[in-house]
Amino acid sequence: LISRKWKVEPTRIDLGDGVVIGEGQFSIMAGPCSIESEKQIELVVQHLVENNVKIMRGGVFKPRSSPYAFRGLGLEGLQMFHRICRENGIKIITEVMQVSQIEDMVDFVDVFQVGARNSQNFNLLDSLGEAQKPVLLKRGISGTIEELLQAAEYIFSNGNEKIMLCERGIRSYENAYRNVLDLNAVPVLKAKTHLPVIVDPSHGIGLRDYVEEMSLAAVMAGADGVIYETHQKPEEAFSDGQQTVNFKESERLIKRMRQAYSLR
Ligand code: PEP
Ligand code: MN
Repeated sequence: LISRKWKVEPTRIDLGDGVVIGEGQFSIMAGPCSIESEKQIELVVQHLVENNVKIMRGGVFKPRSSPYAFRGLGLEGLQMFHRICRENGIKIITEVMQVSQIEDMVDFVDVFQVGARNSQNFNLLDSLGEAQKPVLLKRGISGTIEELLQAAEYIFSNGNEKIMLCERGIRSYENAYRNVLDLNAVPVLKAKTHLPVIVDPSHGIGLRDYVEEMSLAAVMAGADGVIYETHQKPEEAFSDGQQTVNFKESERLIKRMRQAYSLR
């Protein structure tokens, strides 16, 4: 169902208020790794509004390698996130980690993110297929292209066609950076499916100094959008500060991605 052979025209996902994701536009989604406080949300929202970015990312349920690390503000954080974004015309993308959270979250999100660790949580994928909300599905930590496509097929075959695929880097032997951002995936996925393809350069390389280069490379590789981490003070972020750009860097990145897209 997700194959180009089955449907030739590209899928576009309409989030309402003129925010559409898919071929023909370049979507920018930015925000902190984790939602931390009301003040933080307000500062990020202001930064996005100033730069005409319509979609904010931010986790309230965080999959952390250590159980002692910050695991997110949960549903209360999401409700605060939702209130401030709605007041400012910003759409929300946030990670859902398990089936039981869907019902509580569904009224407060515009796009459900499925994280790399849950990329093959088939019960979660089935339930998101029934939920009828747009889904951004990340590639697994060591996931193949075929596994990503099959995971998307789970969602689609349950009746939800509003899916975007996300390349976020795969694990390799290399340890000079966090992951290897596999930009090969972009043209290959675009050829194989009609779904929008989004790139996450922040998790893909894991080092803030190179987020801009990899974002621009993603634009030129044919991505339909980029999702990256930004924070008012990356050094103080509760999670993933090392790969998070500040607002000044973010502003420059937005301008340069739009320039690059106009040349594509
Ligand atoms: C995130 O977006 O902060 C995240 C946890 O991403 P991933 O699932 O790709 O590691
Ligand atoms: Mn993160």
